[in-house]
Order: sequence, then structure tokens, then C-alpha cells
Amino acid sequence: MPLTWLWPGRCVLCRSATRRTLDLCAPCEGDLKRNVGACRRCGQPTPRLDGDCLACLVTPPPQSGTLAPFLYAPPMTRLIHGLKRGNGLIEARILGALMAPAVLADTPPDMIVPVPLSWRRRTQRGYNQAALLAARLARKVDAPVDYRALRRTRHTKPQQSLDARARRSSLRGAFQASAAVAGQDIALVDDVLTTGATTRAAALALLAAGASCVRVWTAAYTPLV
Ligand SMILES: [Zn+2]
Ligand SMILES: [Zn+2]
Repeated sequence: MPLTWLWPGRCVLCRSATRRTLDLCAPCEGDLKRNVGACRRCGQPTPRLDGDCLACLVTPPPQSGTLAPFLYAPPMTRLIHGLKRGNGLIEARILGALMAPAVLADTPPDMIVPVPLSWRRRTQRGYNQAALLAARLARKVDAPVDYRALRRTRHTKPQQSLDARARRSSLRGAFQASAAVAGQDIALVDDVLTTGATTRAAALALLAAGASCVRVWTAAYTPLV
């Protein structure tokens, strides 16, 4: 007897029985907005282009590529909020499953590194949601996660409240990477790409510590409005 008959999944978004092992029903999954035609380098939605966006051609970001299969828009926003509340385990499992086709199509990394939270925020929440997602993705691609590869050297202000220049200077030197990343091809994992400033600073720290290559894996990209 299939397991789904005994324990039918319950959709975290609409609470209906999912009839699948995932706790997200097929109609709710269909409501998620996909980041189609995204820039391969930075993940920004760039309809009309196949490749790098103009911004990346002019000023290439430190990462070699970005996977952001969905847009940060309802109902993805609810999944991400859920990832940051309670214990986030159900949402991490769902997001891992939703991202699986994209990460499996990417070249396998040597190591997966989650973007760390500051000590202060980690204490408030009790866990790092990017680390939960990294653990799920690691199972998909069979690569190790190094939770200590990156650390925050200080608390930084929420990035949404700052303009682009202030974001960069607020994050300069905010991350430090361990020697374990030297020579490694790294998949840097975060839940959402909002301004890109955080992953940029984290990727720069990994490269400065000798990582051979850094690509970014994130569930959703926040479209510029
Ligand atoms: Zn549903
Ligand atoms: Zn780009």
C-alpha cells in the first residue's frame, strides 16, 4: 500500500489533503510564480534575454551563476514566512523538493554553504532558515554542507531599509570564510534573494578565502518594483 494512503500530505497553504508525499497540493504549487527567463548570472528576471543581463555584462557579480526558480510573490511569500517561523522544517522540505529539478540540472558542487544569520538574529529565531534549506538541497545533490564555512563578523541592518550604496558598505567585511573552502566549488544557499547584496558579500568572502568558484542557490528572487 503506498505511504500516501496512510498519511496523506496536508497542504501548508490551503490545508487540503495533497494526495502526495509533499505537504503542498498540486494546485497551490501551480500558483507559485516561476522566475522564467532569469539572468543565469544574477537570477534577475530578464524576459527577452537568454544568458546574462546587461547589469551583469557591465559589472559581473562574484558568483558564477544563480539559481532562483521562483519569484518572491504570493503564495511563495507564505512558504518563506513559514520557513522562518515555528521550526521551518516542513517548509524547508517543500522548498527543497521544489528546487530539486533546478539544482539537479546544475553542475554538482563540492560543498554547500548556507548564508549565516548574525548571532543576534540566530538567537531570536533559534535556527538559520538558510541552513535548513541547505540541508535539504544537500540530500538532493549528495554533497556535504559546511555550516561553519562562513560566519558573520557583525550584525548588519536589514538591507531593505538601505539604498544600493549603503547596502554594500554596510556589508563590507560582514562575512568571513574558513580555510576549508579553499579550492572548493561552492553552492551558496539562501532562502530569498532580495537585493543581492548579502549573497554578494558572502560570495566575495568565500572567494577571498580561496574558493575556486561560487554559485548561488536560492528559492526565490524578489522582483524589483
Ligand atoms: Zn494547497
Ligand atoms: Zn544578471
